[in-house]
Amino acid sequence: MKIVIVGAGYSGSMAAVEAARAVANAEVTLIDRRGTFAAGAAYSTTNASHLLNVRARGMSAFADEPDHFARWVEAAGLGGPDTFVPRRDYRRYLEGVLAGAAVARVPGEAVAVEDRTLVLADGARIASDALVLAGGNYGGRLPARIAVPTVDDPWSAEGLAAIAGLARQEKDVLLVGTGLTMVDVALSLVDAGFEGRMVAVSRRGLLPRPHEEPASPPAEIEPPARLGALVRAVRNMEAPWRAAVDSLRPHTQALWQGLSLAEKRRFLRHLRPWWDVHRHRIAPPVARRIEALIAMGRLEVLAGRLRGGEGGAITVAVRGGGTRPFDIAGAVNCTGPEGAIARVEDKLIRQLLASGRARPDALGIGLDVDAGNRVIGADGAPSPGLYAVGPLTRGALWEIVAVPDIRHQVRDLARALDRESRA
Ligand SMILES: Cc1cc2nc3c(=O)[nH]c(=O)nc-3n(C[C@H](O)[C@H](O)[C@H](O)COP(=O)(O)OP(=O)(O)OC[C@H]3O[C@@H](n4cnc5c(N)ncnc54)[C@H](O)[C@@H]3O)c2cc1C
Repeated sequence: MKIVIVGAGYSGSMAAVEAARAVANAEVTLIDRRGTFAAGAAYSTTNASHLLNVRARGMSAFADEPDHFARWVEAAGLGGPDTFVPRRDYRRYLEGVLAGAAVARVPGEAVAVEDRTLVLADGARIASDALVLAGGNYGGRLPARIAVPTVDDPWSAEGLAAIAGLARQEKDVLLVGTGLTMVDVALSLVDAGFEGRMVAVSRRGLLPRPHEEPASPPAEIEPPARLGALVRAVRNMEAPWRAAVDSLRPHTQALWQGLSLAEKRRFLRHLRPWWDVHRHRIAPPVARRIEALIAMGRLEVLAGRLRGGEGGAITVAVRGGGTRPFDIAGAVNCTGPEGAIARVEDKLIRQLLASGRARPDALGIGLDVDAGNRVIGADGAPSPGLYAVGPLTRGALWEIVAVPDIRHQVRDLARALDRESRA
């Protein structure tokens, strides 16, 4: 069975490893336009300040060997199961896992699918029996009205170089967004020697909350199925809030699938910002640095809306009233992954949507897939031989953007492909 995987971040790399292990007579090919493998957006960083936001015990690449990474961390002398390891070390770990599997690597950009053949930007064509989309986190865009040099994708090689350039400026630097990306970028700027002020702006100005040291065990919950009752149940739990949020983890995908479309929309509109900052927490050492930068006045976090002006003059209309003027040297897009699949600028995604081989999920946040991760076409039927994994499937599963969840999905896909190859 010829299995071709587009995207060699965690999702694609581990889909490849699991397929090479599980599928009888598999020939697995992994493609990435970055030219790097086992890295993707999350683990490309070379900055030692960029830590995993999950403890080592939660980050095994393999669903069936939950302590695989924690053992690697101990053997490498990087700490123990509770350590928040630098992401660049996680990449070394993943590279080792990928190197142990029979997977062919092709650097290149996939731009189209014709029948079951993948077309690359250089014209190369790769035939497949199963084609797995693992494009992951597509960057979003900054509001166009900011008229200074901007860094659109802070995780790309060009973005990292541009951030280092901004670090030499004396004026303020604007960070658009106040979540996990902003935290990374603030640390990158400071580590590159930036001595000025960073102004981080988002509509609500919410910062990711820190993990607790040591961690409390998750509480137990019998979650109600309806959204309003669920929110009340979590709010009323006697457990500490982190334990309450973590109690939902084993149930989140099933809860999500049980919500009506209207409830999902309400969640995305009103609860998501709160969910994100409580659920996707930052490592305590990172939180301490961010708190210190805020206390020193070097990082200001504002809730409000941006209004562009001439050159570097911008205004923030502060939530609750008033405006604040700033004179900025540049801006970094820290808004995180693009939220709407129809706005993703990737040629392959656009071609798949335009040709009807794929369609947006009902919320428009990813691709529509069935329970077997088969991509659903515009006609409502699965497109033959086309699958998706990772953040592209978040409309169907919601909790499918981090390793502890994706690892189950890629293992299950490999098993399904094996069954198909034998049928
Ligand atoms: C900065 C950051 C930090 C994170 N930290 C953690 C963490 O600590 N723990 C955790 O569990 N999760 C973390 N995550 C969540 C993350 O989504 C998952 O852990 C995982 O990395 C997702 O991997 P992915 O392969 O789906 O996506 P990505 O990492 O985005 O990789 C997708 C890859 O596909 C390639 N690609 C896309 N389209 C094409 C195309 N048309 N042709 C060729 N190649 C293509 C891209 O070049 C990219 O390399 C983090 C995410 C980010 C962005």
